[in-house]
Amino acid sequence: MGMRFSILGSGSAGNSALLQTDNTRVLVDAGFSAKKLAGLLEALGEKLESIDAIFLTHEHGDHAAGLSGLARYPNIRVFANHATSHALQAGLKHRIPWNVFETGSTFRFRDLEVSSFAVPHDAQEPVGFLIAHGEDDLLSPRQSLAWLTDLGHAPQHVRERIREADVLVVEANHCPQMLQADTKRPWSVKQRIGGRHGHLSNEAARELLSSATSPRWRHVFLAHLSRDCNSPTAVETACRAPLAALDCGFSVVAPGAGTPFFNF
Ligand SMILES: [Zn+2]
Ligand SMILES: [Zn+2]
Repeated sequence: MGMRFSILGSGSAGNSALLQTDNTRVLVDAGFSAKKLAGLLEALGEKLESIDAIFLTHEHGDHAAGLSGLARYPNIRVFANHATSHALQAGLKHRIPWNVFETGSTFRFRDLEVSSFAVPHDAQEPVGFLIAHGEDDLLSPRQSLAWLTDLGHAPQHVRERIREADVLVVEANHCPQMLQADTKRPWSVKQRIGGRHGHLSNEAARELLSSATSPRWRHVFLAHLSRDCNSPTAVETACRAPLAALDCGFSVVAPGAGTPFFNF
């Protein structure tokens, strides 16, 4: 019944999450080595061998690094749009039998309905996902999860999609002041991160949560935090007010950390 969801890890060191129903287990992104993914799943009592599919948002290593090690797991189906699959295949030694979707389309995978939507980010054709399960009836009420990381700003169509979600994962990547003060990153990288095709700041996440507000939201995970240019406290301070007003639960996912299962 319903779905359960756990973020295996989040941030520039790697992003991946497990979403499962009674019959289906999928990963959203696979930004860790296959060995590390197997270990993270094992800690949850799950196995990489039992994963049915991976849905990829874009080709950056922190979302897709696991693909090279998945040659040993031919039963896992890999879904991506054409541009993302093309970019990734070029760097792989083994040939993946890609399941290609069109950005903006909705497809079924087993008992899941998966919609992708374009996001502005400096990759070939990055997307977010809205993944739904169940029918609109009392026995199996429809539930959905929105996955929204790696975007420089949130256009109107993105705001509309996330309003449909019961559970929302949204990026709160950096604190602009900490990013400006950072001494490790050259100016050009700071420009890229803070730009229109970079990553959402804490303030941008707060603005999004305040203005796209939906009574459907039951829990919001704030994720993809920068280790050097953000802190869980800064994210919580920025985003607490709009979510408290909604009576919506929230978790800040510290860089490198995962989350326990959330059932919905
Ligand atoms: Zn990323
Ligand atoms: Zn990215």
